[in-house]
Amino acid sequence: MAASMQLIGNLLCRITPSILQPLRPFQSLQRIPGQPCLRTSPFMLPSHSFCNEASAEKAAKPKVVTSRYKDRPWDYLESEEYIEKYGTSSVWTGYRRNHKGGIPPQKTRKTCIRGVKVCGNPCPICRDPNIIVHHQNVKLLKQFINSETGIVYDPTRTGICMKQQKLLVKAVGTAKDHGFLTFQIPYVHFSEQDFSSSHDAVGKTPPPPSLSAGDSWYKWYGEIIPDETEVAKVKKIYADYLK
Ligand SMILES: [Zn+2]
Repeated sequence: MAASMQLIGNLLCRITPSILQPLRPFQSLQRIPGQPCLRTSPFMLPSHSFCNEASAEKAAKPKVVTSRYKDRPWDYLESEEYIEKYGTSSVWTGYRRNHKGGIPPQKTRKTCIRGVKVCGNPCPICRDPNIIVHHQNVKLLKQFINSETGIVYDPTRTGICMKQQKLLVKAVGTAKDHGFLTFQIPYVHFSEQDFSSSHDAVGKTPPPPSLSAGDSWYKWYGEIIPDETEVAKVKKIYADYLK
């Protein structure tokens, strides 16, 4: 019985501040005995009476979304999470940008995320934090490239913002440089052109005049007279190699 009375007392203690505060705001300046949980000031609105510190911090600090595929973004496209979300279609299939009126905008957005602000319906890449444009994320890059021509799709078709489009084009270029993406080079037929050096217009390089006259390459070389004993020593060392 005593325990149930205490429980009722505790409940009353929790409820009373919010009820009593608008009725008697100036009483809360004094510490009311039996109401230790009352922490409101008379200038505070009743709706703020249950605000705790944690929620205030949450409101001040924006939530930064970090992907667990940050280090290996290409793993996301293989994951079950991705297949469940997109299936076999590309990430931009079915995306439609919200716009006023009947005529859609002729250009895509500059960017979907400005600082901490995210626009209403972000583009297919910006809306999913796990999708990261990277030159090794080949499966993603291929979704934005025409398989027949190898040309990157126009952003008006895919709907991605210009910021992501620039990153995408850059990543495609890097992937081609690193050999992650194959591409075709137009074939040039060289058969009708002469690249040989045996053409009449190409003359023979004459030998240097010093060698043709039988002189040594360096003039000072002939002036040096070596010591006979030193020459004998060297000849002895290299006897096996001398002809
Ligand atoms: Zn975007």
